[in-house]
Amino acid sequence: MSGASPRLDPQLPGGPVATAWQRCRDGLPLVAPGNRRRFTILVVGSGLAGASAAATLAEQGYRVRLVTYHDSPRRAHSVAAQGGINAARNDANDGDSIERLFRDTVKGGDFRAREAGCHRLAELSLAIIDHCVAQGVPFAREYGGTLANRSFGGTQVSRTFYARGQTGQQLLYGATGALLRQVEAGRVELLTRRDMLELIVVDGVARGVVVRDQRTGALETYTAHAVLLASGGYSNVYHLSTNALKSNATAIWRSHLQGALFANPCFTQIHPTCIPPGDAFQSKLTLMSESLRNDGRVWLPARVGDDRPPERIPEHERDYFLERQYPSFGNMVPRDVASRRARELCLEGRGVGPRGRSGGQGVYLDLADAIAREGRDAIVARYGNLLEMYERITGDDPLTTPLRIYPAPHYTMGGLWVDYRLMSTIPGLFVLGEANFSEHGANRLGASALMQGLADGTFIAPATVPAWLASHPLPPVADDHPACRAAVAAVDRRISALRAVGGLRPADDFHRALGQLMINACGISRSGPRLRQALGELAELRASFSEDLSLPDHGTAIDPELEKALRVDDLFGLAELMLRDALAREESCGAHFRQEHRTEDGEALRDDERFCHIAAWEHRQGAEPVRHQEPLVFTSVKPARRDYR
Ligand SMILES: Cc1cc2nc3c(=O)[nH]c(=O)nc-3n(C[C@H](O)[C@H](O)[C@H](O)COP(=O)(O)OP(=O)(O)OC[C@H]3O[C@@H](n4cnc5c(N)ncnc54)[C@H](O)[C@@H]3O)c2cc1C
Repeated sequence: MSGASPRLDPQLPGGPVATAWQRCRDGLPLVAPGNRRRFTILVVGSGLAGASAAATLAEQGYRVRLVTYHDSPRRAHSVAAQGGINAARNDANDGDSIERLFRDTVKGGDFRAREAGCHRLAELSLAIIDHCVAQGVPFAREYGGTLANRSFGGTQVSRTFYARGQTGQQLLYGATGALLRQVEAGRVELLTRRDMLELIVVDGVARGVVVRDQRTGALETYTAHAVLLASGGYSNVYHLSTNALKSNATAIWRSHLQGALFANPCFTQIHPTCIPPGDAFQSKLTLMSESLRNDGRVWLPARVGDDRPPERIPEHERDYFLERQYPSFGNMVPRDVASRRARELCLEGRGVGPRGRSGGQGVYLDLADAIAREGRDAIVARYGNLLEMYERITGDDPLTTPLRIYPAPHYTMGGLWVDYRLMSTIPGLFVLGEANFSEHGANRLGASALMQGLADGTFIAPATVPAWLASHPLPPVADDHPACRAAVAAVDRRISALRAVGGLRPADDFHRALGQLMINACGISRSGPRLRQALGELAELRASFSEDLSLPDHGTAIDPELEKALRVDDLFGLAELMLRDALAREESCGAHFRQEHRTEDGEALRDDERFCHIAAWEHRQGAEPVRHQEPLVFTSVKPARRDYR
């Protein structure tokens, strides 16, 4: 067991995990209703985590300011979530329970998450669905009116609630409906088209942010009694990912540079079912929801070099490799396992689709059996919009030809370190949703991100942020406080420095090169030598960014090139930390697969003796970052080899 860092106190309640959250909540200090309006809470991000936190805290009576770079809160990346949201309601009466969702989450994350947090998530999942139904979210229903369920990877029950392939959109409409009600009531000040570029820290406590107004170019400060970051994940470090084009790491990265420790940055999820890239100029990849694996069978031609169209390959010449290798979970193995297996076979030259040097980049996801069993109409009713999207992008009709899919960067389990109350190592700075490192350990199970974002925003932060306010009644910070002025000056200097480079290469070009480097060195598979080499290549690329960036000043306030350059600049720092983290973690766990550490049958080989901990990195100005450890203790679920066979 590794030693605990004094910097990391997770504030775990202790005692049985099943009652930990209740005991924690019962002991938290409260703010009386009449006093709440004296406190201002600043939320960055209007996705599910941010919108639900802002709406709930405003409903409680706090004054809330919400900052987002979108023109409408409803454009947050959460809107893109497709497949569904988990909850242990056992509506399908197939043996589900809070205990089972808890254990699935701990195991799915390969025993690299806190037990107490995972249990709390499973408990809250029930209330989340009730809450969303009350908001009017139109979940799919059975003929009799009860909520419908489907299954996602890494589980053997049906606990995923969904609204066709638009679950995120419908949930976000529910959350923003609640938010806009508070805006209308004057309790939430909605600040759109504002890009947070710096955190303001006063006497060691988070007290506000510096934003750039994307319409006027002005730098503004907003102060508060507590700051909540709900700014999403950082998969766009890989350039090509399923995330929205604008998703970025700036809010968490600038906070990290100010003192917030960054946990498990190398834990990133490469999703197995995405549409493979079409050409070199593509800037985004499209997800095909994991829900399709409920009914779709994944296969490849059994013979290397078999170029026949899929419908002409007879059954006995097909390799349903997930069903063959994992007879128990079959096509529903977790994402990390499915992605790794698909990539291995494609590297062997068995991939399908346009052939590069190493064969095609893709495997088939075939709905033919499901259509034969349940009929075309049933499949269209379940996945209609996904299938339509696939056909529009590829030109193939997935109802007659198998979909061609390949793994792509999708979700980041790493993020800012937070304690059980969601507070970072900077007092007063809370981190919610995908932006924190959270409960998913080394691999998130499908349909658990929406659950976590809503748990953080609707239930956890609204209990723990008031406790912080009650115990730290700080005076307001004026906009001209020296810390605010210093933060604005720092942003100004940064922008001027980027403009002064005067090179020839646009930020996008650097981003593409960075993404290539990261997917090759720190993607599905990693190795010590490759990671070390990548650190050198990254340093060179970064040096060239500071010498050859082209950022012309057209004298206009609206400047998307500047926004990109600032984001790419931050992604360079984060990429380096990811490489260091992947190098330091000399084991394979979940999505972090080190080639040197695998079992004889190619599965991830954990090293619980040396690595049963959360790694959290501290930034040191002008020096190498320091790696801290928070040991993980398992009292309810015994760490075992993750076996999906
Ligand atoms: C294509 C796709 C499908 C998915 N499907 C599912 C699914 O079916 N089920 C599931 O559980 N999960 C799914 N996920 C994952 C899930 O959607 C996300 O993890 C989740 O929505 C993140 O929510 P969030 O509130 O943390 O962040 P986001 O929704 O990403 O919101 C971030 C917010 O922060 C703001 N922001 C960020 N940085 C700044 C800044 N510097 N200044 C100002 N504002 C800023 C943005 O404007 C935005 O409002 C999917 C993900 C993708 C990519």
